[in-house]
Amino acid sequence: MSRLPLTGGCLCGALRYAVRERPFLLTACHCLDCQKRTGSAYSMNMQVREADFAIVAGAPVESVQPTPSGSHTTHLYCSACYVRLASKPKTRPGLVSLRPGTLDDTSWLTPNLHLYARSAQPGAIPPGASTHATMPEDFTPYVKAFTAAWR
Ligand SMILES: [Zn+2]
Ligand SMILES: [Zn+2]
Repeated sequence: MSRLPLTGGCLCGALRYAVRERPFLLTACHCLDCQKRTGSAYSMNMQVREADFAIVAGAPVESVQPTPSGSHTTHLYCSACYVRLASKPKTRPGLVSLRPGTLDDTSWLTPNLHLYARSAQPGAIPPGASTHATMPEDFTPYVKAFTAAWR
């Protein structure tokens, strides 16, 4: 696992952030919106408490966009290189969903849950991975598993 604080930033370096405390969930989302938004197979999301997350350089541009579940999420982008650093789901106040590919150290990232498996591209989910057809109502077991694996 990685050492705290976790640090990262956008591609051009204008935006930098730090995460003071341990994240509690790391998911891969295979919904069609995430495929479109990333132009790739899935989006990785690392859940951290908003109180533990700080932008330490630059100021993100915020864009409110609908989610597949019918809610809205505020996405944080760099205004110079357009990398999306994080989002703040309206349904989960107090949480920040970080794009962990923007961390300085990505060598330890392994999603512990693959969401929207029903729309995953062939081969995009590793064999044996934990999956959900869409989005579970209760993330508690996955949070417990991620927390246990961190130690
Ligand atoms: Zn940038
Ligand atoms: Zn998604």
